[in-house]
Formats: sequence, C-alpha cells, structure tokens
Amino acid sequence: MPKRDPLDEPICKWDRKELEKLLGFLVTEVVASPHYICIKCGRAASEKDYLCKGRKMSHYR
Ligand SMILES: [Zn+2]
Repeated sequence: MPKRDPLDEPICKWDRKELEKLLGFLVTEVVASPHYICIKCGRAASEKDYLCKGRKMSHYR
C-alpha cells in the first residue's frame, strides 16, 4: 500500500494525528492569511486545494 501523504488531502480530511504532526505548517502556511473558505466545513486556507469545497472569500464579502 502506498504511503498516504496528508498534503494530498484537504485539511478538512486530516485526522487528529496528521493535524498534530503538521500543526506548524498549518499555522504558518495554511491559515496564516486565508483567501479561501470551505463552504462545507467553514475552514479557511491560503489555497483552494487545502479545502474540500474551497471558494474565494472575496465572493462573500
Ligand atoms: Zn471542507
């Protein structure tokens, strides 16, 4: 079985272990200056690919 890379998945799908391991990356890269909002989960991120249903935040301002 190929090793699963959490970065291939949206942060919405990360489990607690993945979150703990990548919390630094999450804080400094993903949520530091968010431009996208997940319309399914309400999470925010700098890139659309980090979210399962990302939409540009500016659409909703
Ligand atoms: Zn999501």
